Amino acid sequence: MDTLIDQLSSRFPGLKFTPGTQFCWSPETREIFYKTAARGKRASWSLLHETGHALLDHKSYHADFELLKLEVAAWERARSLALELGVSIDEDHIQDCLDTYRDWLYKRSVCPSCSTKSIQQNDYAHYRCFNCRTTWRVTASRFCRSYRSTKKVTQTPVVFHLLDDFQAK
Ligand SMILES: [Zn+2]
Ligand SMILES: [Zn+2]
Repeated sequence: MDTLIDQLSSRFPGLKFTPGTQFCWSPETREIFYKTAARGKRASWSLLHETGHALLDHKSYHADFELLKLEVAAWERARSLALELGVSIDEDHIQDCLDTYRDWLYKRSVCPSCSTKSIQQNDYAHYRCFNCRTTWRVTASRFCRSYRSTKKVTQTPVVFHLLDDFQAK
């Protein structure tokens, strides 16, 4: 992976690669974080993917569905980059990653009360079921949460936060 970072850094001098605990692109600080403990092919693929986000200058997005578009675009960029560098990315791996996002987005959008697939509200922080009118809050989704190498990252499962005051409204 170090070789790949060197290759990418010399090819794109504007990019900043920062060691961390996870692979991610931070649009705020314009850094590509890479998991120092990661080795092997998958690590290179992740690195290329995050570089894809960086080269496409992906910033924040609002609606959940936009995220999937950006993910697809980042993989496309990663694919062409891999070709230029003589690396090959397993197509199944790309589809698996995208499926993970699809599942995640789907879970966010399903009503916790009646399981109807629902629409994200204009504030992007809530979903509302058109069937039973339950409203629930979803966490803001970003490419990179504020993780730093010093902080231990705990994977927080995607949970629905039902609004406590919903019944009162
Ligand atoms: Zn991504
Ligand atoms: Zn419902």
